[in-house]
Amino acid sequence: MPFKLTLYDINTQTTRRKSQLNHYVKLVNDTEKVKRIEESLCVICYYNGSVGCTVITSSECQKCKKLMVFPTSATDRFCLECAKAEGFCRNCGCDINLKQRKKIFKEDQCQ
Ligand SMILES: [Zn+2]
Ligand SMILES: [Zn+2]
Repeated sequence: MPFKLTLYDINTQTTRRKSQLNHYVKLVNDTEKVKRIEESLCVICYYNGSVGCTVITSSECQKCKKLMVFPTSATDRFCLECAKAEGFCRNCGCDINLKQRKKIFKEDQCQ
């Protein structure tokens, strides 16, 4: 079937791109910073979200080894308490302020 260009297609794509752009603007400006820090997520994880399929998955916190259970296959690296205490993104494990670190944890724990 030959592709027929319609006004509908153009406008649908325009709307899609526009909302994508708004999404990037939000990300760059970190418009929901308070809520993001509250949830211990870095800008990428917070605004892009984590994609995973719905299957109960468990993993342990990389710091306190507490077992965490997730309703999707996208698991976190740290529990919320450890992520908060150490300033990590709980999902991907990066520094929440995207700063390079000299040591893993704030308090050195002989690891
Ligand atoms: Zn933990
Ligand atoms: Zn992250």
